[in-house]
Amino acid sequence: MITYDCVVVGGGPAGATAATELARAGRSVLLLDRGGRIKPCGGAIPPRLMRDFAIPETLLVGRAVAARMIAPSDRAVDMPVDPSGAGGYVGMVDRETFDEWLRDRAASAGAERRTGTFERIVRDEDGCALVCYAETRDGPEQRVRAKAVIGADGARSRVALVALKDVEPARCVYAYHEIIRSPAASDPYFDRNRCDVFYQAAYSPDFYAWIFPHGDTASIGVGSANKGFGLRDATTRLRAHVGLDACETLRREGAPIPLRPLARWDNGRDVLVTGDAAGVVAPASGEGIYYAMVSAQHAADAVAAFLATGNPRALRQARRTFMRAHGLVFRILGIMQYFWYQNDRRRERFVAMCADRDVQQLTWHAYMNKRLIYARPLAYARIFAKDLRHLLQTAG
Ligand SMILES: Cc1cc2nc3c(=O)[nH]c(=O)nc-3n(C[C@H](O)[C@H](O)[C@H](O)COP(=O)(O)OP(=O)(O)OC[C@H]3O[C@@H](n4cnc5c(N)ncnc54)[C@H](O)[C@@H]3O)c2cc1C
Repeated sequence: MITYDCVVVGGGPAGATAATELARAGRSVLLLDRGGRIKPCGGAIPPRLMRDFAIPETLLVGRAVAARMIAPSDRAVDMPVDPSGAGGYVGMVDRETFDEWLRDRAASAGAERRTGTFERIVRDEDGCALVCYAETRDGPEQRVRAKAVIGADGARSRVALVALKDVEPARCVYAYHEIIRSPAASDPYFDRNRCDVFYQAAYSPDFYAWIFPHGDTASIGVGSANKGFGLRDATTRLRAHVGLDACETLRREGAPIPLRPLARWDNGRDVLVTGDAAGVVAPASGEGIYYAMVSAQHAADAVAAFLATGNPRALRQARRTFMRAHGLVFRILGIMQYFWYQNDRRRERFVAMCADRDVQQLTWHAYMNKRLIYARPLAYARIFAKDLRHLLQTAG
């Protein structure tokens, strides 16, 4: 039996990226994905992702040039991505083609692709990991030897479940959406170049609901951590509210979104998790594709260092590097979600704040480029003062 340098479980953005990086570094890689399901996703990606991961514009099915934030009172605030008109946009991808393109790129880099569902890890006589999977639902168990295993199998990761038994799983928001055929360009409520975000308890008591344009189709859905909340009913109500109830429904699907990085990503021996499996989705926004790919890059670097040195401590570096770069933003977004999404009174104020030019500029800059603009301390001071005023008005 051959021994792979690394078996990557899961071929979403995280797994495909980790497999590509390791294969490019000359490592033998098996990319194992269960296949047969399109990842439920709004598909919004920032330009920084396209630059950093060489994503061609041909993969975009749409470009949003503004976000419309809708308050409980139905007050709508438009946030143009690029008020100067210089052409900034949020890219929209179709996960069926985007993920397949990423897996294909991993194969072109030298990774071997296999379809199979990961089940467990057992140990060979010499202690080497044996990754066990099945090619079909009731098919016989297959085994491959791996010096290292990357678990990129998404939220509720089975790799994390079996290899990181003592690590508490991430808290999740449950998201449900329907892919609909886009209405005619003249529709009064729908704009193919705009993302609509609803901060209304009727559609989500603790997160938000959305309409994201994907060219000829659109994603319309809701998220909530409240298990008793009827996501599907809320989506039906939202569609009726915005006049999209008559549009053809192409798919109905849902999935959990983890909203906190796991406390540990590796088993101290030879297994490392990444992407949703490691809990790296930004709170408040639910943005996970960029963070999945970045964390996978760190995971690939950490595994490469582990393979080169044999020292399992190298695996820890993946989480450390990620949290150093993004931990602060995750903390700020976590506080934002906790505070502003709590009730309609606060949501109303939150949307009102979004009308502010400074808030718009800094929000978009942080989203597009994935860093805070330290060069504009005055703008931060102004936002801080306004934020404080809103907080004081909201208290009580
Ligand atoms: C409804 C919804 C809307 C969202 N909208 C956005 C958005 O607009 N923008 C954004 O940035 N993020 C969005 N997200 C989050 C984003 O989809 C995820 O953060 C991102 O897909 C994480 O990538 P990943 O590779 O870690 O995991 P996934 O994309 O979940 O990929 C996991 C892969 O593992 C495979 N797999 C799972 N279990 C096994 C197994 N046992 N054996 C083998 N293979 C397995 C799956 O087939 C899949 O290919 C949304 C999420 C949801 C649910």
